[in-house]
Amino acid sequence: MNNNTRVLLKRRCEGVPQASDFEITTSTIEQPDDDQLLCDTIYLSLDPYLRGRISGRHMSGSIAPGDLMAGEAISRVVETRHADYDVGDIIAAHSGWQSNPVVAGSEARRINPDVGPLSTFLGILGMPGLTAYAGLLRLGEPKPGDTVLVSAASGAVGSLVGQIAKIKGCRVVGIAGAPGKCAWVTDVAGFDDVVSYKTGDLREGLDRSCPDGIDVYFDNVGGDTLQAAMERLALGARVVLCGLMAQYNIDEMPPGPNPAFIIKARATVRGMVVYDHEDLRAEMVDNVSQWLRDDQIQYLEDRTDGLENAPEAFCRLMQGKNVGKAIVVVGRE
Ligand code: NDP
Repeated sequence: MNNNTRVLLKRRCEGVPQASDFEITTSTIEQPDDDQLLCDTIYLSLDPYLRGRISGRHMSGSIAPGDLMAGEAISRVVETRHADYDVGDIIAAHSGWQSNPVVAGSEARRINPDVGPLSTFLGILGMPGLTAYAGLLRLGEPKPGDTVLVSAASGAVGSLVGQIAKIKGCRVVGIAGAPGKCAWVTDVAGFDDVVSYKTGDLREGLDRSCPDGIDVYFDNVGGDTLQAAMERLALGARVVLCGLMAQYNIDEMPPGPNPAFIIKARATVRGMVVYDHEDLRAEMVDNVSQWLRDDQIQYLEDRTDGLENAPEAFCRLMQGKNVGKAIVVVGRE
């Protein structure tokens, strides 16, 4: 019988991973216990989140030197000790980078090969597909006529985001790098436009392709690409923070608010402009004045006497030296 080929992490990668960070080993193929399956791996998925696991920064756990590299795979069952699976069944499981894994039946997901090509169950019909589908439709809330911008547009996630947005009647613009990827995004995937951040100026490209601003930005990259998209958001835009390709390979986090915290917490970040909420004014006055009368609310005022002292008071305010609401007493009540 053949050996099981396994790929282990040899050392934690510094910066961009090198092949020498990994080690290929062979071992005897394990025999399945009760409720387990012995499988032949057909397709192994390589996903950006694995870099985060190697750094110990991913929510799904870390991969330490000496560990089998993690990853989802599509496999054929060659031996079964689980009542729900037969020899020849095709399954998906997080069985790692190995040729002949033993998988717990409870951790396998049966794949119906009639639904689509097997490899797509690791791509557009798998985890990246669900990411695109749920991220766009549930969080991005695209409406017909919206301009939808997506980065890493030729990848599994980005390309599906753009194509679903087209199906939903949006105008879709992709951001991609190399010319070949850009050509695929428009010519094959059918995006309305594409902007290359590698062969042209990203901001000029976005101004050209999103003249009325961006209604939905689906971000797979972070960094300066996210910044450039944010500069062009339309009123009421939705931003889906999905991935951080620009920072997976760096150890020091860039300055400024890091989208990783928003992603991890599944937080919703919304812009506030008071003028949009005039309809709540009467309700606010009713409630807050009542709480004030009931002594449930305290307040501080930083009073300055005389209009002539207003400039100085304003300067104190802008230096943070005021204590409470800055008020200039100009006349008598
Ligand atoms: P892709 O096949 O799209 O590969 C990543 C692409 O990112 C690259 O091909 C590259 O394309 C682009 N990229 C942009 N900037 C950089 C950079 N600085 N370094 C390297 N690549 C860069 O991957 P996926 O479709 O599998 O994943 C896309 C994103 O979605 C990833 O960020 C991933 O982590 C995220 N994701 C998030 C999930 C979640 O639950 N939040 C789940 C699944 C994926 P180009 O050169 O064209 O820019």
